[in-house]
Amino acid sequence: MDEAAGDLKQALPNFNDSLQVHVEVHQKSSSTAKTENVTAHVMQLLNRHSIVFGDYTWTEFDDPLLVKNVNSVAVVDTELKLKDRKPIDLEKCNICIHVFQLNEEGPSAENLEDESEELVAANHWLLPAVDFHRLWESLIYDSEIKSNLLDYVTTTLLFSDKNVDSNLIAWNRVVLLHGIPLNNPIFTCHPLGPPGTGKTSLCKALAQKLSIRLSSRYRYGQLVEINSHSLFSKWFSESGKLVTKMFQKIHELIDDKDALVFVLIDEVESLTAARSASSAGTEPSDAIRVVNAVLTQIDHIRRYPNVVILTTSNITEKIDLAFVDRADIKQYIGPPSPAAIFNIYISCIEELMKRQIIYPRQQLLTLRDLEMIGYVENNISKLSLLLNDISRKSEGLSGRVLRKLPFLAHALFIQSPTVTVEKFLEALLLAVEKQFEERKTLMEST
Ligand code: ADP
Repeated sequence: MDEAAGDLKQALPNFNDSLQVHVEVHQKSSSTAKTENVTAHVMQLLNRHSIVFGDYTWTEFDDPLLVKNVNSVAVVDTELKLKDRKPIDLEKCNICIHVFQLNEEGPSAENLEDESEELVAANHWLLPAVDFHRLWESLIYDSEIKSNLLDYVTTTLLFSDKNVDSNLIAWNRVVLLHGIPLNNPIFTCHPLGPPGTGKTSLCKALAQKLSIRLSSRYRYGQLVEINSHSLFSKWFSESGKLVTKMFQKIHELIDDKDALVFVLIDEVESLTAARSASSAGTEPSDAIRVVNAVLTQIDHIRRYPNVVILTTSNITEKIDLAFVDRADIKQYIGPPSPAAIFNIYISCIEELMKRQIIYPRQQLLTLRDLEMIGYVENNISKLSLLLNDISRKSEGLSGRVLRKLPFLAHALFIQSPTVTVEKFLEALLLAVEKQFEERKTLMEST
């Protein structure tokens, strides 16, 4: 088997007894050590610590080579597969080590038009990028959304790489993540804005993850985020030349066969909306040309084996675009369940403890621990039970709002530089209640 196919195969779920464990090694940007060298030393580290409990990250090392060249070594995504934290004997696993360095430059904006205007038509990152570091881990869902997405797209890329004839086996490289329909009053009337269930973030995180996982097949990843909304509000009165210019740039990226190119089209429904507006005659005829130019271009680039088209939408029923319609992967991304909310809050509290805003550090129980003790209240479980209550009360709030609440809790109800977990949870509860009150007032006034 050639190296490329071996790498793609490694990234796939395993069908035999031994668990496939991925280890991501974040090499320092200043490091010039060879990948093989780093891999060998990471292997020695893993041999010394052969049992881990679920996902685990090392940031401190005894080995001078790792100290000099590596920021972290992380056993990742085992919990996606095992659905829980379980002891894993690494010696019995099939280990795949992925060494990567982060690009620290940040996005380059494609204005293409009047530089003085704020409106950005596209952003472009070289992957893996520092901007998306740990984004994948920060997104919490209770079903298997993340591992399914990863497996789907990995299979897609394997099929592309092997030139599987899509007339014989139907498959494509288009992904659609869709959310709550906008006519749902709970979500449309929210004071903090439209549904933020993590669709865009998940696309970016997926692109980053795949760039890391497939780094020995593709030398680097490229992510071009087309903001269809701003594209149309600005370009309707312009000529289709700008679209051509943007896609020329994308073509240049695709031409490098060592690059894995992700094209992210956020709010893809605005393409449909624009098209219906133009056919209804409410938009100038230029608009029809622009929309058609975009659609033709997307249809064209999606045929290249090293391209993945990632799209997001909030209104699925209105999307009648052929390329989205045919998307192989149409995944609904809804608001988190109380169990996922609990874990989102835990990650926020963990961060505030790390920064010593919540002080002293206190270990909270996991939901599984609570279940095991039958939710009985005692000194150890008290605070975790309170957090569980708060999580239930938060049901219906989007991930975006949930990630703001710890900040709001502090700003509105704490204000001091340090706070105990208990006081923090009391403030968090108040912040949740305030959210729902504000939402009620807003709905009554509309
Ligand atoms: P959408 O594209 O669905 O509107 P975004 O990707 O813009 O949502 O999400 C905004 C932010 O909300 C994310 O960066 C993330 O911090 C937070 N978020 C949303 N959903 C989740 C989730 N399930 N778990 C953790 N954070 C989430």
